[in-house]
Amino acid sequence: MIKTTNLYKTFRTEDVQTSALNKVNFNVKNGEFVAIMGPSGCGKSTLLNILGLLDNPTSGEYFFDGKDVSKYKEKHLTSLRKGNIGFVFQSFNLIDELTVFENIELPLVYLKISAKERKQRVEAIMERMQIGHRKKHFPQQLSGGQQQRVALCRALVAKPKLILADEPTGNLDSKNGIEVMNLLRELNNEGTTVIMVTHSKRDAEFAHRVVNLFDGQIITENSQRKFEVVL
Ligand code: ADP
Ligand code: MG
Repeated sequence: MIKTTNLYKTFRTEDVQTSALNKVNFNVKNGEFVAIMGPSGCGKSTLLNILGLLDNPTSGEYFFDGKDVSKYKEKHLTSLRKGNIGFVFQSFNLIDELTVFENIELPLVYLKISAKERKQRVEAIMERMQIGHRKKHFPQQLSGGQQQRVALCRALVAKPKLILADEPTGNLDSKNGIEVMNLLRELNNEGTTVIMVTHSKRDAEFAHRVVNLFDGQIITENSQRKFEVVL
């Protein structure tokens, strides 16, 4: 599903130049659950953003479902992202002015899905994530664990085949963190591919494979849970 060859990303601001990714070759199969680990500043979020079609690499190729998307323009990236990729941000990224229901509904609005179907799908995912009783609340009226569940609902409501999560438990207490990880595991068991950045060894144990990044490079990879190819 995902293959990168010699991916580089350099950020240039005025006279400062930061090499965030340095020749990254990273492959993920359909149905895999992969954890990316590494110290702060080593390029984890940069890699996830490129994989999530939120940013372009400086050079190298990125094949998403066999298509080289590394040189796609913003508009093309956005349309490919919709419906294919659900992104879960560490800081939740919910819109304060919208209710829980409206936040979760947004991806379906972008996909031009009818109001009736939107309601059905939003309610089904809210029930699954046990957040239905908060649908009229605004994000600021929720606890961190609840906000993360809303963010997960929004990432999942369009039934993406790939979920990318940047430290999804980073702002949660341990009980809420385990709940979120169990949900990711459940979705993966149902066939969704998951790539997650984490600092937590506990979270990484949910993955089939751990990829360690250091200074913009993959330094080690290890398998820890049997993965069978999903056809
Ligand atoms: P991580 O997620 O592993 O903590 P990041 O991918 O966020 O690391 O950052 C990798 C490096 O790239 C860091 O040195 C960071 O300062 C730099 N960086 C990330 N995003 C930008 C940006 N938009 N502009 C300039 N430098 C950036
Ligand atoms: Mg980061």
